Amino acid sequence: MLATEFAEQAISGSVSITEHTAKIIEEAKKANSEYHFFTAIAEKEAMQRAKELEALARQKKAKGKLFGVPISVKDAICVKGIESRGGSKILSGYRPLFNATSIQKLLDEGAIIIGKTSQDEFGFGSFSKNIGIGFEKPLNPFDKKRVCGGSSGGCAGFAQKTQCAHISLGESTGGSIACPASFCGAFGFTPTYGRVSRYGLIDYASSLDKIGAISKNPEDAETMVRIISGKDPKESTTMGQPEYAQARPPKKYSAGIIKEFLGEGISQEARKAAESFVESLEKQGIETKEVSLPLLAKYGLAAYYILAATEASTNLAKYCGMRYGLEERLEGGFDEYFTKIRTNSLGSEAKLRIIMGTFARMSGFREAYYLKAAKARTKIIQEYREAFKKADFLVNPTMPIIAPTFEEAERLSPMQNYAMDLCTVPANLAGMPHYSANTGTHKGMPIGIMVTANHFEEAKLFDFAKKTNFAKKTGAK
Ligand code: GLN
Repeated sequence: MLATEFAEQAISGSVSITEHTAKIIEEAKKANSEYHFFTAIAEKEAMQRAKELEALARQKKAKGKLFGVPISVKDAICVKGIESRGGSKILSGYRPLFNATSIQKLLDEGAIIIGKTSQDEFGFGSFSKNIGIGFEKPLNPFDKKRVCGGSSGGCAGFAQKTQCAHISLGESTGGSIACPASFCGAFGFTPTYGRVSRYGLIDYASSLDKIGAISKNPEDAETMVRIISGKDPKESTTMGQPEYAQARPPKKYSAGIIKEFLGEGISQEARKAAESFVESLEKQGIETKEVSLPLLAKYGLAAYYILAATEASTNLAKYCGMRYGLEERLEGGFDEYFTKIRTNSLGSEAKLRIIMGTFARMSGFREAYYLKAAKARTKIIQEYREAFKKADFLVNPTMPIIAPTFEEAERLSPMQNYAMDLCTVPANLAGMPHYSANTGTHKGMPIGIMVTANHFEEAKLFDFAKKTNFAKKTGAK
């Protein structure tokens, strides 16, 4: 059932919000013991809210597009009173005194927050295996030996697994919504940078972070994204909503297939799935053509990892055991104290990113790395703009492979690991809205297709997703 349909029934009183909430909490607890999708399940708070909403429905005072709809939230997004750690030990015990803007907007529409989901520490990864110290890795709902994808792995795993009306609130810096959606057979939508407020997000890289939705279908994601969008006085990079483009009949759309993302580094199964998606577009009368975006493929990864690590290293400086989360006995000088706390409570990938990022922004290296990467990013945005003169949408396999096993993922070197983001990073770097939808299977595992549109063309993108989501829908047992 779609979230909006559930909300209508909850408002009319034809479904019981408390029963539904209790059911999804039970489901979450059971799934968590097997798959580790959650870092915290907010049972008490969710049941309390369900009771309050049900009382409103009884008094005929109920309203809201998500009235009674359960929402799971990536750990990096602050929820008042619920431990929010961004998947890191260093934020142990941090219970925000406020809600992120996106959370407040969902609550204003009657949503129920059911818990925080597993992720790579601070978003550093593509498999949800770089989890913080003391956390558990989420397992793929189709095969527990395989990864969920990352970094919003818990969101996608649970969105796939649940049988209840539900939407997950995720976040992407360089692909963290599309990647897990692809690996778990879910629908993942990342809005234009600036469309959704980042206020209350535990940031990874501020010029790249975007809050978005993971769900079973485009309709639910659209409901969520429309609610959380908009200018926020608390967040200066947010934009008001430019006019939403009008929906069009499929025959009026054109799609460009990115040539560079069908070649080297892409597995045969990912390529075949993308090709058959393109064929199905043609059958629907949608014009398709091959387009070449050489800069994306050549500089995307390098520029992204320099910018992301640089910003992350500054954003993480505030986690030092004094202002948020973990504290230890104050002994020695500041340097000794900070070093001790950070050594003991940050995982190895976080340390690697801090060192890499700090190096890239050191005086003398800034021009060589950071500023060059920023220039490459501008060039990539220009290349996208040119491509969108030729086609409404750009299409590519979301990930080069199906979800790897943990064993396979562990064998990858850091460089091979980063190369997994080849196709997802450019759209994130350029701040372009995009989604990943399921388009086929291989060895029983889902394969995602990624579709990107120009800045602020969310409406067009959702329209396309709904019209072309002949999704060979997959469902985990
Ligand atoms: N895999 C990418 C990284 O590690 C992107 C992760 C993300 O979007 N948070 O940086």
